[in-house]
Amino acid sequence: MKAKVVVAIDLGTTGNRVIAFSREGTIIAKSYYEFPQIFPQSGWVEHNPFDILNTTLDALRDVVKVIGVNNVTSIGITNQRETTILWDKFTGKPVYNAIVWQCRRTENICRDLKQYNKVIKEKTGLVLDPYFSATKIKWIIKNVPDIKKKIFEGKIIFGTPETWILWNLTVGNVHCTEPSNASRTMLFNIRTLEFDPKLLKIFAIPGQILPEVKNSDSTFGVMDKKILGKEIPLVGILGDQQASLFTQCGWKKNMIKATYGTGIFIMTNILKKPVISNKLLTTIAWKIGDEVNYAMEGSLFIGGAAIQWLRDNLKILKSAADSENMAALLKDNEDVYFVPALQGLGAPYWDPDARGLLIGLTRKTTTKNIVRAVLESLAYQTRDVIEEMEKNLQFKFKVLCVDGGATVNNFLMQFQSDILSLPVERLVNIDSTALGAAGISAITTGFWTKEQFEKMKTIDKVFKPIMNKKNSNFYYAKWKEAVKRCLKWK
Ligand code: ADP
Repeated sequence: MKAKVVVAIDLGTTGNRVIAFSREGTIIAKSYYEFPQIFPQSGWVEHNPFDILNTTLDALRDVVKVIGVNNVTSIGITNQRETTILWDKFTGKPVYNAIVWQCRRTENICRDLKQYNKVIKEKTGLVLDPYFSATKIKWIIKNVPDIKKKIFEGKIIFGTPETWILWNLTVGNVHCTEPSNASRTMLFNIRTLEFDPKLLKIFAIPGQILPEVKNSDSTFGVMDKKILGKEIPLVGILGDQQASLFTQCGWKKNMIKATYGTGIFIMTNILKKPVISNKLLTTIAWKIGDEVNYAMEGSLFIGGAAIQWLRDNLKILKSAADSENMAALLKDNEDVYFVPALQGLGAPYWDPDARGLLIGLTRKTTTKNIVRAVLESLAYQTRDVIEEMEKNLQFKFKVLCVDGGATVNNFLMQFQSDILSLPVERLVNIDSTALGAAGISAITTGFWTKEQFEKMKTIDKVFKPIMNKKNSNFYYAKWKEAVKRCLKWK
C-alpha cells in the first residue's frame, strides 16, 4: 500500500505545478506544465483561462497516477495573485482572457481615478496601480460587448486563478476565495474583511460578481468525483507570496522574506494590526481560525526578469547561471549602475513612467559591467524596500530569509548581504510557494503538526556581510542617484 500524501496545486505565472508531499515532508511526486504567455500589445499580458485549467488538470493527473487517488488526504492551492478572470457561470466560458498581474493596460484608468488615491490606500492598503484586479475588471466590463447585460442577468462571475480553479474542480459548486487573495483585488476592505461598497462604487463594479471570502484554512469544498474518480477535500488557499511567507514560518514576529523570481517580493508579517505605508503595500497574510495576520509588502516588477532580458534580448548571456561568473570577474562595479525600470518602477517609487537606465559607461565598459550592474540592481531595489519597511515599522531587521529561482546566484546573495549589511539566509532550493500551500492544508487537516512543518524549513546557506558599511552606503547612495535620473521618462 502506498503512503498518504498532501497535494499542493501551485498556479504560477509561467506554468502550473502539482506536488505531493509525504508525512515527513519529502516530495513523492511532482509535475509541471508551462502555458503560453499572450502579449497582444506592448505592456499587455494575458493567459487563456483554459490553459490555466488544463495544465492544472494534466499535472494533477500525472501526480495522482504515481501516488494513487486514495492516498490524497487533502489538496491546498496557491496562486499568482491579482490576475483577473470573468466567466459565465452557466456555460463555464470566460468572457475574455485572464488579464495578468503584470499587465499595464489600465494605466489610464488609474490616472482617471487619482482623486481616490487616499481612500483606496486607507481601505485596501494598496497603491492605485494597474497591478491589482479592480481596474482590470473595470476594463473587461467596459470593453467586452454585451457583458453589462449578462452581469445584470446574474450570469457573470469574477475570480483570480485560485477561484477559477476551485470553481472548476468543484464543477461550478464553489465560488470562493480567502483574504490573502481578496486583499489584492483593491475592492476588499482590510479592516472590515469585506468587499467595500464605496470601493465598488468608485470602480463601478457590481458586487454580485464577487466570490465569497472564507478563511484561508477553510475546507472550501471537495474536488468533484468526475475529475479523478474520487472526492478529495480542497483545504487551504494562499496567494503565492503569502504561501512562501508561510513556508518561511512568517508567523514569527520580525521575520522578513524576499522571493527572487521573475519579480522580487519582499514581505514581513506585521501581525494583528494593519500599518499603512504610502510607499509600500499593506495586505493580508492570512486568516486562520479567528486570527487575521497582516503583512507589509514591497513588490518589484523586475527581478530575475532582468537576467532573462540580458539573455533573450541583449543576448549577452547564454544562460541565467552564467551571470554569476561574469559578474565575479570584476573587482567592483567600476561605477556602472543599472536601474531595471523595464516596466516602470514598483515599490517604493511607484512610477509607471520610469524607464530602464544604464549609466556610468566609458570606453572601458564591457558586457561584464552590464551583467554585474544588472545583478547589483536587484540587491539595491531590495534595500530600498527594506529601508522603507524599517522606517514604517520603526524596527531594524536582523536577517533576511530568501527563496526563489534567482537565489541560486551566489554573487547576488553575497552582494545582497553586503548592501544590506545583514545576513541573508537561503532556503534549500525548493518550491516554497507549493510547500506553503501544502503546509496550510496539512496543518489544518492534522496530517502535519505546526512543529513538524517548522522543521521542514531547511537552510542551505547563510551569507554574511563582508563589505564594510561605508562602502556599501557609498554604492547605495550612487544607486539612488541613478534612480532619480530614470523617473518620469515616458
Ligand atoms: P517564477 O516563479 O517567477 O517563474 P522562479 O523562482 O522559477 O521564478 O525563478 C526564475 C527566475 O530566476 C528567472 O527570471 C531567471 O532569470 C532567474 N534566474 C534563474 N537562475 C538564475 C541565476 N543563476 N542567476 C540569476 N538569476 C537567475
